Amino acid sequence: MEQKNLVKKIFTEVINPGNCFHCGLCAGLTKNLFKMTDTNKGPIPKLIRKPHKNDISDLKKVVLACPGRGVPYNHLSKKLITSKKSKIIGNHNSSYIASSNSKLIRQNASSGGLVRSLLIELIKSKKVDYVCILDEKKNQLLNFDLLITKTVDKILNSSQSIYQTTPLLHKLNKLKKNKKYVFVGLPEHIASIRILKVKYPKEFNHIKFLISIYAGTNMYPGAVEFYLKGNGINNISDIKKINWRYGEWPGMLRIVTKNKILSLKKFYYNYLIPFFISKNCLITPDFTGELSDISIGDAWSPSLENKGHGYSVAITRTKIFDKILMKLKIKNDLYLKKINLKNTVRMHAHMLEFKKVGSYLRIEKLKKKGPVPLYDLEPQKISFLRKNIESLIGFIISVASNKSVKSIFSLINSRFLGFIFKIIRQIWKSITKPTKRKGLDNIKIISVKNKRVEEFLKT
Ligand SMILES: Cc1cc2nc3c(=O)[nH]c(=O)nc-3n(C[C@H](O)[C@H](O)[C@H](O)COP(=O)(O)OP(=O)(O)OC[C@H]3O[C@@H](n4cnc5c(N)ncnc54)[C@H](O)[C@@H]3O)c2cc1C
Ligand code: SF4
Repeated sequence: MEQKNLVKKIFTEVINPGNCFHCGLCAGLTKNLFKMTDTNKGPIPKLIRKPHKNDISDLKKVVLACPGRGVPYNHLSKKLITSKKSKIIGNHNSSYIASSNSKLIRQNASSGGLVRSLLIELIKSKKVDYVCILDEKKNQLLNFDLLITKTVDKILNSSQSIYQTTPLLHKLNKLKKNKKYVFVGLPEHIASIRILKVKYPKEFNHIKFLISIYAGTNMYPGAVEFYLKGNGINNISDIKKINWRYGEWPGMLRIVTKNKILSLKKFYYNYLIPFFISKNCLITPDFTGELSDISIGDAWSPSLENKGHGYSVAITRTKIFDKILMKLKIKNDLYLKKINLKNTVRMHAHMLEFKKVGSYLRIEKLKKKGPVPLYDLEPQKISFLRKNIESLIGFIISVASNKSVKSIFSLINSRFLGFIFKIIRQIWKSITKPTKRKGLDNIKIISVKNKRVEEFLKT
C-alpha cells in the first residue's frame, strides 16, 4: 500500500500537473520501476511495472529528492560551509572570471572551457575515479546520455552546451560505491543529488563533487527540426553533425547537413526559445546551481565579449574548488581573476531576476490550477509594473508554443527570424531593464515555511 501511495504522490504532484524536471532520478534510484520516455514535452517517466514492498525505500528517496516537488534552497544552502551569504546567487566563497589556457580545451568549449579543465584536473590528481557528464551518443545525433568516464580524450571531446531537456540521473544506481565520482549537471540535477547527499550521507558518499552549469532557459526537442525547416530542410536525418556553440565565443549553432553547412550566431538562435522553452526552467528560482560545489556560466560582459576568446564565470561554494582554481592558475593552465558579488550579479542581472522574481510570479499563477513545486524563499514585494511584464511574457510564450503558430513560423527563414528576434530582444531588454534592475536591486528575499520544508525538518 505504502509503495502505491508513494508512486501516486509522484504522479499527482509532479508528472500529471506537468511539473516534471526530466531529471531521470525516479528511473535512476529504483529498480526497473520507471523508464524515461520521449515526448514532445521532453522526457517523462513512465511506470513500467507494479511497485512492490521492496521499492519503498527507493521511492521514499525519489519523493524526497524529486526537483519537481520543489527544493528548500534556504534550508539546504546552510549545509554548505561558505564564507558569504547571498539569496540571489546562493551561499558561496568567491567568484572568478576564468578561461583555459589550453587551445585544445577552449576550441571546443561553451565558454572558457572551465568545466572540462576542472574535470581533467580532478582525474589527474586522483580526487575522483570517474566523471559523470552528459554527452551525445556515438553516431546518434540529438540523442544524449550520461557518460561515465575517466578517459581524458573523452572528457575533452564531450559535447558543448546541450540546449535540450535530457535526463541525467537515470543511471545513479549504476555507480559503484567504492569509486569516487564528480557529477556535472544543471541546477535541478545538482539540487537533487545534494538532497540525497545531505539526507543519506553514507549512501551517496561516492559522489564526491557537484559541478553545476548555469541554466537560464532550456528547450523541448523539436527546436532543431524547426530551425531546419526555416532553411528548407525537412528531414532531420540529413544532419551529419551539430554544434550549439561552434567557433569563437559566444559561438554559433552550426549544422552540417548532406548538402550544406548552416550556421547562426548564438544571439540569433535565441529566437527558438519562446517556441520551445521548457516549463521546468520557468518554475525554478535556481539559475546558478546554488547547491553545487562550484557553479560555472558564461562571463557575459561587453569588454570580454569583444575580446572573443571565451570566458567562464565561476562561483565557488566549497573551499576545495578555490584551491583547485589557484593551483591551475599557478600552473598557468588557467587565466583566473577574482570578481566581487556586484559584478557577478550584474553579469546575469536579467536572468537572475527572471528566476528569482519571475519564477515566483509564474508559480503563483499555476497554483490556481494544481500542485506546484514548493520553495522556501520568495520575493517580499513585487511592483505592479513587474507583474504586468510577467503577464506579457506568459502571453508571448503561450502563443509561440501553440502548434499552429509554430508550424507557420517554421516556414520563415531562420536568419531573418533570428535578426528580428535579436532586435525585439534588445528593445524588450531596454524597456524592461529599469523595472527589472530596480526589482533586483531592491529585492528582499524572505524565507517561508511550507509542507516541503517541514518534510526536511522532520526526516
Ligand atoms: C540548457 C543550458 C542553459 C544554459 N543557460 C545559461 C545561461 O543562461 N547563462 C550562462 O551564463 N550560462 C548558461 N549555460 C551554461 C553555459 O552554456 C556553459 O555550459 C558554461 O558556461 C560552461 O562552459 P565551459 O566552457 O566552462 O564548459 P565546457 O568545458 O565546454 O564543458 C561543458 C560541460 O557541460 C556539460 N553539459 C552540456 N550540456 C549539458 C546539459 N544540458 N546538462 C548537463 N550537462 C551539460 C557537458 O557534458 C560538459 O561537461 C547553459 C547551459 C545549458 C546546457
Ligand atoms: S522531476 Fe525527476 S524525479 Fe521527479 S518525476 Fe520528473 S524525472 Fe522523476
